[in-house]
Amino acid sequence: MPLSLRVTLGFLVAQALLLAAGVAGDTTLPAYLVVLAAPLLALAVTLWRARVETEPAVRWGWTCVAASLGVWSLGQAGNLWWEWGLGQHALPHRAILMLFQLWAVPLLLLLARPWREREPHTAFGLDVIQALAVSLAWFWLTWGSLAADSPPDAPGLSSQLGLIDAQNLYLGVGMAVCWSAAVSSAERTLFGAMSLHVGLYTLGAALNNHLTTRWPEAVTPAWSSLITLAFLPLVWLAWPGARSLPSPWPLPSRRWEFLVRSVSPMLLSGTLLLLSLRLVRLDYGWGVAGVLLAAGASAWRSTLAQVQHRLKSESLRRQRRKLARIAWTDALTGVPNRHHLKQVMARLQQPERRRHPPRDWTVMMVDVDHFKPLNDQRGHRYGDACLRQVAQALSGTLARPDDVLVRYGGEEFLALFPAASHRDAPGLAERLRSAVEALALPHPASPSGCVTVSVGWASHSEQTGELDMDTLIAQADLALYRAKCEGRNRVVGMA
Ligand code: GH3
Ligand code: MG
Ligand code: MG
Repeated sequence: MPLSLRVTLGFLVAQALLLAAGVAGDTTLPAYLVVLAAPLLALAVTLWRARVETEPAVRWGWTCVAASLGVWSLGQAGNLWWEWGLGQHALPHRAILMLFQLWAVPLLLLLARPWREREPHTAFGLDVIQALAVSLAWFWLTWGSLAADSPPDAPGLSSQLGLIDAQNLYLGVGMAVCWSAAVSSAERTLFGAMSLHVGLYTLGAALNNHLTTRWPEAVTPAWSSLITLAFLPLVWLAWPGARSLPSPWPLPSRRWEFLVRSVSPMLLSGTLLLLSLRLVRLDYGWGVAGVLLAAGASAWRSTLAQVQHRLKSESLRRQRRKLARIAWTDALTGVPNRHHLKQVMARLQQPERRRHPPRDWTVMMVDVDHFKPLNDQRGHRYGDACLRQVAQALSGTLARPDDVLVRYGGEEFLALFPAASHRDAPGLAERLRSAVEALALPHPASPSGCVTVSVGWASHSEQTGELDMDTLIAQADLALYRAKCEGRNRVVGMA
């Protein structure tokens, strides 16, 4: 049996023994003490869990749970002092009731946080204020109508109990909905444990409150102490390394997960608005203040969401541009690669983008002469450095914005000149060739003693039919082959 379960069962057995031992005498003190010990034990375990949890959002979730248990324990300690210490059984103390009510604040925050998303501190601050306001409004609705020193009348009491049940049920259903939308197993453990805890607490508190009201004598402190059953599942399930509760829900669809996450931040404003509208009848000033807070907070949050959305899409756009630049650039030489050529062709030929697509096209294939022997004799690093310089020199000759040079293969480049005809081509090709020659990069195996290129060009004119890029490139390649055959370091064209 795992240690977590042994501790949980051990606590129950100790509780039973304490109460049994007290049957003969007074069970009040043992009952109060176990009802304080159970949430304190759960508090210790959930704090421990929060410390070892690796997912930040889940760590935050367990911290909220621990905070709620701390507040509840304070309430119970107050009860112990008030009812047992001072012997005040007839009327509950308002401050103590308030503490029990504030138990809901961290749980409301847990339900309302946009799960796993980072939000500015102002949004968190507003959530804390709203969660407090929701709890106080609920408290005011539940206890506000009561005079401080007289017990409630029957209708007042029944509406009070209804409100307490509604609040607990609200939290329980919220936890169950978050459980159904939880994706990671750590999240499922958290919300599974919390659904069970709040569910049992709702049931226990309802039974206790309703039965106490109807048969005040029958519900002894020993019976009331059964509320510990709501805290013990947390000890068992939050224990680090404990197995999580099997979930009754299938893994959520993306749509359901996103829906729950998107509604969560609106939850507090919506609840505060509803409670404040009800409160207006009881206390006009506070009711209106609540309505204004809810409206202001929801406006602020939606503005924040808009700003975040814009910032995110802006950064996505920038990243996309950066990625495209990387994808279309040759890593060695820094000039565009073949993928870029396709893009350029598509852009140039789009009639909706250009009113007048080019009529003439010239393509040039440029190949470094005797590059293999250069690599063999001077090494690949030198070959790479030469390629980089050749690429820069070739791009430096391009004059018009639409002219492009791409690295086509190993030591082959392709230059595309839209709007250049067969009359312009020889001059442009010569410019390419002489730019490389002018670099005068030493080449021991070349007849000229330096790195040279051969250029083959081919032109297309609108009069001769539709442009077929593949054919034009094949023609330029053929011209390059001829330039190589004719002795290299020269220009050959096909009009
Ligand atoms: P030709 O004058 O007929 O063009 O002869 P060549 O030696 O230049 O042609 P060949 O196609 O036989 O050799 C091309 C060489 O280019 C072979 C390969 O090792 C080299 N090469 C291809 N890409 C790179 C590269 O990125 N860096 C280096 N250093 N060499 C490369
Ligand atoms: Mg080659
Ligand atoms: Mg070559």
